Amino acid sequence: MNKFTIRRDLGIQILTLYLFLVVPIIIASLLVFRFANQRLEDDVKAADLALAKSIAQESETTMRNSLIAIKKLGQNPSVLNADTHGMENLFADVLAVRPDITMIYRLDANGIMLYHFPTGPTSTVGNDYSFREHFQRAKLTTQPLISKGKTSLTTNEAVTTAVMPLWDYRTGKFLGIVCINIKLEYLSQLLSEIVSEFHPEEQLLVTIIDSSGNIIAHPEHEQLLMPLKDVNNQIIENVLLGKSGSMISKDEDGNKYLYSYTPVYSAGWGVIIKRPAKEAFATPNAFNRVMIGTISVFVIIGLFFWLSLSRQVIRPLEHLANISERIGISDISQDNDRDKETLNRLSGRTDQIGNLIRSLQRMENAIEARLNELSTLLETSASVVSTLNLQTVFDRILEQVERLFDVSKSAVVALDEKTNKFLVKASRGLSDVYNDHLSIDPNEPQSIIMRAIRSGYAIQISDTETDPTYAAMRPIARAEGYRSVIAVPLKTQHAPPAALLIFREKPHLFSKREISLLTNFANHAAMAFENATLYARSDMKLQEQTRRLEALIQSLNDGLILENFSGKVIYANKKVCEMAGIDPDTTLNVSIEFILKSFASRSNDPEETRELIEKKLLGSSTEPAEFSIRINKKQHYIRLDSFMVMDAKNIPIGRVQIYHDITTDKELDQMKSSLISTVSHELRTPLATIKGYASTLLANDVEWDKESQNEFLRIISDETDRLSSIVSDLLDLSKIEAGTSALSKTKCDLRQLILNASKVCHPNPQDRLSLKIQEGISQVYVDRGKMETVLRNLIENAVKYSWKSSPIIITAEKNSDTVIIKVKDQGPGIPKKHQRDIFRSFYRLKIGNSSDKQGMGLGLAICEGFVKAHGGNIWVEPSETGTCIAFSIPNNEANNS
Ligand code: ADP
Repeated sequence: MNKFTIRRDLGIQILTLYLFLVVPIIIASLLVFRFANQRLEDDVKAADLALAKSIAQESETTMRNSLIAIKKLGQNPSVLNADTHGMENLFADVLAVRPDITMIYRLDANGIMLYHFPTGPTSTVGNDYSFREHFQRAKLTTQPLISKGKTSLTTNEAVTTAVMPLWDYRTGKFLGIVCINIKLEYLSQLLSEIVSEFHPEEQLLVTIIDSSGNIIAHPEHEQLLMPLKDVNNQIIENVLLGKSGSMISKDEDGNKYLYSYTPVYSAGWGVIIKRPAKEAFATPNAFNRVMIGTISVFVIIGLFFWLSLSRQVIRPLEHLANISERIGISDISQDNDRDKETLNRLSGRTDQIGNLIRSLQRMENAIEARLNELSTLLETSASVVSTLNLQTVFDRILEQVERLFDVSKSAVVALDEKTNKFLVKASRGLSDVYNDHLSIDPNEPQSIIMRAIRSGYAIQISDTETDPTYAAMRPIARAEGYRSVIAVPLKTQHAPPAALLIFREKPHLFSKREISLLTNFANHAAMAFENATLYARSDMKLQEQTRRLEALIQSLNDGLILENFSGKVIYANKKVCEMAGIDPDTTLNVSIEFILKSFASRSNDPEETRELIEKKLLGSSTEPAEFSIRINKKQHYIRLDSFMVMDAKNIPIGRVQIYHDITTDKELDQMKSSLISTVSHELRTPLATIKGYASTLLANDVEWDKESQNEFLRIISDETDRLSSIVSDLLDLSKIEAGTSALSKTKCDLRQLILNASKVCHPNPQDRLSLKIQEGISQVYVDRGKMETVLRNLIENAVKYSWKSSPIIITAEKNSDTVIIKVKDQGPGIPKKHQRDIFRSFYRLKIGNSSDKQGMGLGLAICEGFVKAHGGNIWVEPSETGTCIAFSIPNNEANNS
């Protein structure tokens, strides 16, 4: 690429410059040349045409003279009258002054020869010449005319005839003609003279043709009266039509000729000059050749100049470009070798190019050496930094030092944070004694390690035997077998201070270059050391953080799953495993499908649950999915929510599913709704009754007797009691739940407490109640009101839920530390599975006769609250028939009689 660029840049630029200079000159020369050539050609043509015209002029004059002469003869009476004698004298006189005339003769009106002069050698007098073309033409005119060329029958010479028709103007009678035969040879001779006068050296052919195209003047006499051959018909046609001009035409052999032609008007002839074009245009052609030669020389010199420039300057520059390209690339291709060879040759040049090449070669060598050094350094450094394990980093440092400096003994010494001493962290070629026992105090002034670390520069001992500062270490140097040592600090910020030691067996002064290389390497090694130290620290921190996070997620009350984009579980906490009933150790990388199936299998309707979870996970539902499963035989409500997890750059890394146990919330909801319905129902019933009876009493239209009025008022009073009991129940419960129900304990008689409670019971137990109080229990230390409420609730329940008039037995027993009171009836009893739930607020059984009875499900909850407030407990006592609710209260001293 660069080769072409340079060539283009210089070669083409120079060529373009040259062409800019030369092309206009060539174009201008060609234009001038063309113009001059045209002019020369035109001149040649004009010269020939002028010659043709002068010949035509000459012929014209001759023929005009002949016509004048014949006209005059035609006016002569002796001619008109055909007076032979008179004609003889006359004709003799004319012939005497006109050498071109061979004969003068007179024909009569019928074309019969009357007389001709000269009369010999043979006489044709009496011959009929009426067939002659000129005789036929003469009969039709009064003007003189010139005949075509012909052979005179009398003189047997090629002639042309000037003819004068003779008319008797008085009678209009044709009298015949008088003619002058002009010798065609004479005309030819005239031509030869003109040609030899103007163009003596040239091959010029001049001919005159008559109106039938026959030659009437030609240098070769034998051609006379012959048709003109080898001439383009166009030329003959043009000249006979009276046109004049020039034309270049080829003959049959392909030779080019220049023809110039012009007419001789008076005779209807044409003068044609023919000459070879080569000869005619000899001058323009010579000019042509000179011109082409000059331009060619010009172009060749230019090309030669360009070629030598390209060879001497551009190509060496190309090679230079190749060197500069190659600098830094150790590619030993064949091309490069060839280039190098050429360059070596070119570097021998003594001019500026040679100089340039030599300096570039020097530069290349220097850069190559430096690059080699750098690439080795990079390689070694890369090997060192390629690990984060601290010990491996030290080992690699020493391995690469050995390779880089060709030494067999080296060590890394670093500050040990525990002992606060510099110890050997790794070494090569040194004894265990050295490794284990070298321990340098950071404040030691003589140690080269400490000096190097303190100064930040490499410190060397070129000969351990002679250097006074090394006296203390000399025995060790001898034992380890080294004579020179250099310590280079490993400059770190976050790692402990450290130094690299290199030993040589012989005295050695490390050069500046070696020290610079070693320092560079040490910088890289320091980086690796620092990275490994930081990594070790951050790794510990990371592990700690991971453990904390793990503990946090594991202790979550919600189930959590993190899945990747291929639907595999990356992480699942303990809770989710509990919920789905799977082994926590088998969750990693299982498909999410498996978890889903596990959840579905715990549901009452696996198919529906599965669909619900799938819908949520496939993203078709934005609302959390809720489903129920059985865990340890108990129904649990689970809410599933899921969301994408993004990394710091907001790129999704997976999806989290949160399984939240909402059973308590559900129950609370249920409780709330049952509270509202129960409370409203329980309040509405007594209110409706009160309203009904009060309205009845107030009615004006009916008079109620006293008894009825009392009955109505009693009912109103009862229902009001019921209302107040419901409200006080609700109040009690809210106090218990809020923890604000304070006790005011006093000593109370147990029997009296039970009797009081039974009195306010609604419905009243009447005589169904029997008390069995163990001896020794007379007084208990309780909150009277609250204990009465407990007893009242229990007796009311026993009355409410047992058969009418069946006995209700209340027993009180005492053991070491508690008094246990039991209320037993003969009712349907409470199934075992509900025996815990009945103590929950608003919990009512929907079996047996319970649903028919009024109640809000608060009684037992209040009992439990009050009993627990006393420090006791309440439970359902196993019993064969009926229900037995028992509760305990602490039997402290105050309770004893
Ligand atoms: P309430 O009696 O107002 O419904 P309770 O808290 O006193 O509320 O009782 C809770 C439920 O326990 C009752 O609804 C009833 O079904 C059941 N229960 C309580 N005591 C008895 C009993 N002695 N015999 C049968 N069922 C009982």
